[in-house]
Amino acid sequence: MAVPLLDIKRQHQPIIEDLRSVFNRALESSRFIKGPEMEQLEKEFAEYCGTERALGCASGTDALILALMAVGVKPGNFVLTTPFTFFASAGAIVRAGATPLFLDILPDTFNIDPELLSGWLTDNCAVTDRGVVIRNNGTRIGAVMPVHLFGQLADMDRIISICKDWHIPVVEDACQAVGAKWSNKRTGSLGTAGCFSFFPSKNLGALGDGGMVTTNLPEIAERIVSLREHGGRGYIHEEVGFNSRLDAIQAGFLRIKLAHLESWHKGRRKNARFYDRAFKSLGQVTTPVIREEAWSIYNQYTIKVPDRDGLLNYLRERGIGCAVYYPLPLHLQKCFECLGYGEGDFPVSEAVSKEVISIPVFGELTEEELVEVFETIKAFYAEKG
Ligand SMILES: *Cc1c(COP(=O)(O)O)cnc(C)c1O
Repeated sequence: MAVPLLDIKRQHQPIIEDLRSVFNRALESSRFIKGPEMEQLEKEFAEYCGTERALGCASGTDALILALMAVGVKPGNFVLTTPFTFFASAGAIVRAGATPLFLDILPDTFNIDPELLSGWLTDNCAVTDRGVVIRNNGTRIGAVMPVHLFGQLADMDRIISICKDWHIPVVEDACQAVGAKWSNKRTGSLGTAGCFSFFPSKNLGALGDGGMVTTNLPEIAERIVSLREHGGRGYIHEEVGFNSRLDAIQAGFLRIKLAHLESWHKGRRKNARFYDRAFKSLGQVTTPVIREEAWSIYNQYTIKVPDRDGLLNYLRERGIGCAVYYPLPLHLQKCFECLGYGEGDFPVSEAVSKEVISIPVFGELTEEELVEVFETIKAFYAEKG
């Protein structure tokens, strides 16, 4: 039996008439970009995240670029983040004119190691009237960007406390973590700004591209309102911004889907518990480690296994959906050669990238399918002996 990694059709089936009515409404209103539909979504999304404001934009990548600029990252600054993430985390830093400075991850949660962050700042940085700078060359640290990988938040108590001490803004890359919590607070409400993607495969997916920035600070919200529309108001421009707006039709789809998000999270979490229990009997598989403070939305269910590539091929041959997120850490990407990193610089990220594989966890999976995924993985290791 084939099992897809993700089947969005099953999620849309029960709400298909609601989605069609959004299209009809947009067609009749002729308000295609932003408008009341986006403003409603912004209100509902801010309420969901527990923030003062939410600002729609064209993608998660744009949300990151806009947020970095709005918190005061300047060309030439460093932004501290992890090399074990989707490319856009670091790509957005470069597009904001800054330079990514990578710190390694924890091997169990795959998220940035806060003790490395604290140690690196103490060893290399000083507080000046320009903000936090690297002592030996004066380069400013513009922001810290924790990435909440696979739906679990990074250790936000530690990260926020370190960044408060240093007065460095925190931009949460929450693109994979919409709705996820740390100590009962949702992502997006914890840092200076939070960035979300509505790419179709995220837990809250549009029927196309879309993104959102959340913040509690009015000056950051206003800066984003300006930056997303060419850096101006009316026809008066103080800076050069972007064309990064959310379509009304996508906002309408997202409003329908946001109302179902908690029940969809529940489905994923239930499936994760099924695998957690099942894989206990299989010594080769390391299941996701979720911190006590964390409430994961399992955008991916990512296991660590021996002979990962062997398992990958075995599952693919049998029609079991699976993928490697991510096979090459960002410090080893060709486009970042100029940063001067090399093999061995981030041993945990490098090791993990050879061990991880993500398997189907979407909420509409049947129990039969879950059993099929588990049994196929079990059979692979039984055949290997
Ligand atoms: C999806 C994703 C992004 C980018 O979102 P887009 O909407 O595709 O631009 C950024 N960071 C992470 C961690 C992501 O998973």
